[in-house]
Amino acid sequence: MSALAADDVGLLRALERFGIRLLWHPSLSEESGAEALAILTAAAEGRVTVDALCVEGSILTGPNGTGRFQLLSGTGTPVSRWVERIARHAQNMVAVGSCAAFGGIPMAGVNPTDAVGLQHDNGLLPAEFRSRSGLPVINIAGCAPHPGWLVETLADLALGGFDAARLDSLGRPRAFADHLAHHGCSRNEFYEFKASAATASDRGCLMENLGCKATQAPGDCNIRRWNGYGSCTDGGFTCINCTSPGFQNPGAPFQETAKVAGIPVGLPLDMPKAWFVALAALSKSATPQRVRTNAHSDHVVVPPARKKSP
Ligand code: SF4
Repeated sequence: MSALAADDVGLLRALERFGIRLLWHPSLSEESGAEALAILTAAAEGRVTVDALCVEGSILTGPNGTGRFQLLSGTGTPVSRWVERIARHAQNMVAVGSCAAFGGIPMAGVNPTDAVGLQHDNGLLPAEFRSRSGLPVINIAGCAPHPGWLVETLADLALGGFDAARLDSLGRPRAFADHLAHHGCSRNEFYEFKASAATASDRGCLMENLGCKATQAPGDCNIRRWNGYGSCTDGGFTCINCTSPGFQNPGAPFQETAKVAGIPVGLPLDMPKAWFVALAALSKSATPQRVRTNAHSDHVVVPPARKKSP
């Protein structure tokens, strides 16, 4: 659903712009049944060129490593085996979403289906796996990932010159992973003064009380907005760091900030705890009345002061 909203023209035409031909997709392609299996079989046997195999969703390896919790319809063969077979020939392997990248939601809790991601942390493919291009699995993480991240990565691959330096240590394209979801949030002024929301409809920063992890979350979702104008934090939803492994097991309710002695457990990256505490105290002591009041409202109550005309 996210990918279908890609760009201003939709996914298929966005790919066409870069000369990318969609070989097959389970929902978007006309081929189904025997025709679809013929395409997949040709890919698995290396009879058709696959520049990028995009996998969505985690791979279920249970029960007991057989993969039979997730058979490819009409084949009696586990999806995991199909992915392994095509991966031998694919120029690139692309995990679309945090489930395919890191295991994601199906891996939560006791992981009853033995779900894994494609490569990360004992994933389906071994750590030393490299696709024909020489790259590890490219992890377009996110739940859901921004459609721009997918189109941009596939375009980069199609245009050539995409190398390992463009990936971070978890295989995420640095084009989005070098940013934090916090960058560009419309609540940044409230963050600066630690003027925090107390309830979900408040305009204040969501970090102190409502669990926002955007200062730790790789992603440019508040710079490259969804559908041109939206983001989770814009909509009042706290950032749950969905681009990182393990986000599905936060250890506390998503909309609550875990604290020890009143200090959030998850502090901004790159900031020592003592600095954060000192800065927070200083900021709170200097919070303008406008910011303090508006932080606890669902609309602007106190507008910015106007300069008197000379
Ligand atoms: S709500 Fe989250 S993303 Fe927005 S300013 Fe606060 S910490 Fe940053």
